[in-house]
Amino acid sequence: MASSIPDRSTSEWQALDAAHYIHPFTDHAALSKKGTRVITRAEGVYLYESGGRRILDGMSGLWCVNLGYGRRELADAAYQQLQELPYYNSFFQVAHPPAIELARLLSEVTPPQFKHVFFTGSGSEANDTVVRTVRHYWNVLGQPERTVIISRHNAYHGSTMAGASLGGMKPMHEQGGLPIPGIVHIRQPYWFGEGGELSPEEFGRVAARALEEKILQIGPEKVAAFIGEPIQGAGGVIIPPSTYWPEIQRIVDKYGILLVADEVICGFGRTGRWFGSEYFGIRPDLMPIAKGLSSGYLPIGGVMVGDRVAEVMTVKAGEFNHGFTYSGHPVACAVACAAIKILRDERIVDRVNDDVGPYLQRRWAELASHPLVGEARIVGLIGALELVKDKAKRLNFPDPGDVGVICRDLCIANGLVMRAVRDTMIIAPPLVITHAQIDELVEKARAALDQTQQELHRQGRL
Ligand SMILES: *Cc1c(COP(=O)(O)O)cnc(C)c1O
Repeated sequence: MASSIPDRSTSEWQALDAAHYIHPFTDHAALSKKGTRVITRAEGVYLYESGGRRILDGMSGLWCVNLGYGRRELADAAYQQLQELPYYNSFFQVAHPPAIELARLLSEVTPPQFKHVFFTGSGSEANDTVVRTVRHYWNVLGQPERTVIISRHNAYHGSTMAGASLGGMKPMHEQGGLPIPGIVHIRQPYWFGEGGELSPEEFGRVAARALEEKILQIGPEKVAAFIGEPIQGAGGVIIPPSTYWPEIQRIVDKYGILLVADEVICGFGRTGRWFGSEYFGIRPDLMPIAKGLSSGYLPIGGVMVGDRVAEVMTVKAGEFNHGFTYSGHPVACAVACAAIKILRDERIVDRVNDDVGPYLQRRWAELASHPLVGEARIVGLIGALELVKDKAKRLNFPDPGDVGVICRDLCIANGLVMRAVRDTMIIAPPLVITHAQIDELVEKARAALDQTQQELHRQGRL
């Protein structure tokens, strides 16, 4: 079969990229000095660069390729559906089998309060849908003044106007006049960075009580919802202390506000449970999902709508004036159905919980003894290393970000993708990773830490 993509050399691709392609989240002046890294194919947990070099993908792409690359069943599901019905919509009282079947499967694998889903094309669109849904919900219930959504600093909820507003990323807010009105942020449960002298458990309660303080400050009758990632991903794999989520649940229950768990990263097995909400024992009313839903093979997202909200939206609410051309795209839905069946039939979530999760956790903890590492934290297959100048004092380097970039580039040079957020190194490898590949990941990470330390000595910074 003739491919629509020609064969070109690395330097040809780099020149064309520089000439025509504006990348997401990229400083193009910096990129043009280095030249883009061109990935041409992938298999299992490995990426292959143009030129053939192999790299272990410690990030599952962008936290999405949970089943690894090259799953034939997913390609077949797409190909079959492309031939059967490549596109149709679900507006105007129509539907098609892939979307209906995916909705049914999702109601089986999500917590019991979820029997309904609204489909979107991405996680950002899912969070836009959350904003519209919670405000519409309260309006239908005769409380139109309940519009404020409380989120957290350093949260990530996507890059559309509402998604970026819900997120708590300052550099994103600085571009484009964000956040939009009615979205406020409280502190994050980041013990390593902000816990001071408190124990993690004490700090978890303090961080959660910031929600109650904010609700009282705004007026409980004006607050619509609280949104949080069970574990903050893009913010640097911030794993909250065990006391945090139970206290948040107590507070949202007390004031009757909706709880939104953004499961875009934590969902579909990342924590060793199907959803991060289950890992932390919380009962969300809405769950945005995306990424692992299709294992990243095609773009699809959605919002799981819990019974409390679904009873209003499906009975009393009239028409919901919201939807996307690609809501419930048949090919993306067919691939997501296949991905969920693989997760379930191959018991991959259990495997994260009982086997590869504990193995990576044990090996990851060994890195905590490295002189540069202030903390090695991990849940399931999502983890972080804090790079520090002074271990005992939990003291980061001045100008955070620079050391992380040095370490990240050394990882790539060693054949490992590990991402840097400030000076926090993060991983979220495919859930199908083997013990031998975990050993490879940890050894490459350790080598990069040693080389980072040498480089910092050379620069006179240690
Ligand atoms: C990636 C991400 C999103 C946004 O998803 P997109 O598909 O990139 O729009 C939203 N929430 C969380 C927690 C994410 O990690």
